[in-house]
Amino acid sequence: MALITCKDLCLAYDGKIVLNNLNFHVNSGDYLCIVGENGSGKTTLMHALLGLKSPLHGEVLFEEGLNLKDIGYLPQQTIVQRDFPASVREVVLSGCLNRLGFFPFYSRTEKQIAKTNMDRLGIASLANRCYRELSGGQQQRVLLARALCSAKRLLLLDEPASGLDPRMTQEMYSLISELNQKDQITIIMISHDIAAAVKYASNILHLGKQLFFGSTKEYMESGIGRAYSGNGGCA
Ligand code: ADP
Repeated sequence: MALITCKDLCLAYDGKIVLNNLNFHVNSGDYLCIVGENGSGKTTLMHALLGLKSPLHGEVLFEEGLNLKDIGYLPQQTIVQRDFPASVREVVLSGCLNRLGFFPFYSRTEKQIAKTNMDRLGIASLANRCYRELSGGQQQRVLLARALCSAKRLLLLDEPASGLDPRMTQEMYSLISELNQKDQITIIMISHDIAAAVKYASNILHLGKQLFFGSTKEYMESGIGRAYSGNGGCA
């Protein structure tokens, strides 16, 4: 069985259908990019995968042993979050919150997990800095380290490079690719950047008037893939 299977999924707000009859699956080790125009339902779908949005019809099935609390999630950053008055260490540690269970205190285990993930993303030297004083690229690394604290096998990312300059965007994509290739973390990522999506992803889900799900190679050979990636443009 696949890690995640979406079967005849239909998502709606107040009876207004956003996505209908959506079928796709994500296998362990995949790197799936979800692309499509604004308003095509990418974020709504991600919320459904996270159990934050109930389907009108159809279902999201998880492989046995995969729990919601084991999924790391990097949401799109809002302006308010960019101004968050906490230290880098505190922000990363908060990614361990769902491990705490009954006792709301971080133990040595959580502190070690946070440290490992700060080391992993090269931000250990920033641990005592205030989050809101960091650059956009550094903030995204901090949030990625936070998401990794709960990501045992699966990482969901909503536009992780949004607002970053080209160099930091490149760094972010390389980091994510490394987590996928070296650490075998399955990636599901929303992206506007089709050129980067087809460069890094193993599979593409294109939402909109036309739906596409398949390997990146199949996407590049399809009409929709050629239309959207031909000029290296954005969805
Ligand atoms: P995308 O992420 O592809 O830009 P969204 O999933 O954010 O698309 O939105 C899909 C559609 O659902 C849009 O038409 C949007 O206006 C609508 N929508 C999103 N969130 C809500 C909400 N909380 N209540 C009502 N409609 C919503």
